[in-house]
Amino acid sequence: MTAVTHRTRTERGNTVPTHLPNLRAALLEQHRFRNEQLDALASWAADSSALATDDPRDEVTEALRRCAVSALCEIDAALERIELGCYGSCEACQRPIPLERLEILPMAALCMSCQHAREPRAR
Ligand SMILES: [Zn+2]
Repeated sequence: MTAVTHRTRTERGNTVPTHLPNLRAALLEQHRFRNEQLDALASWAADSSALATDDPRDEVTEALRRCAVSALCEIDAALERIELGCYGSCEACQRPIPLERLEILPMAALCMSCQHAREPRAR
C-alpha cells in the first residue's frame, strides 16, 4: 500500500462556496421575513391613516418601512451576487469577506475594514 498523499495545504480563497446553500437559505428566509413585515406595515398604515392624519405612529411606521425596504434591497443584491458568482467578495477591495461575517450578516457586501471606513464615526 502506498502512503496516502495528504494535501493539507490550506486552501486558497475562502470557504464561502461550501456554505453557499446555507447562506442562500438564510438570505431567502430574511427576504420572506422582510416582505411579511412590509405587508404588516402596509395594512397597519392603512388602518391608522383612517383614524387620524397626523398620528405619530405614522412616522414610526414609515421609519420601519424604510428600514425594511433597504434591508430587502441588500438581500436582493446579495442574492444577485450569488447568481453572478461574485458573492463573498468585498465590493470595495475585492478581497474575500470572512465566512464568520457572512454567517452573521449574509447580505454583507463589504469586508469589515471597508465597512468601517465607510461608516460615520459618530456613535
Ligand atoms: Zn473590503
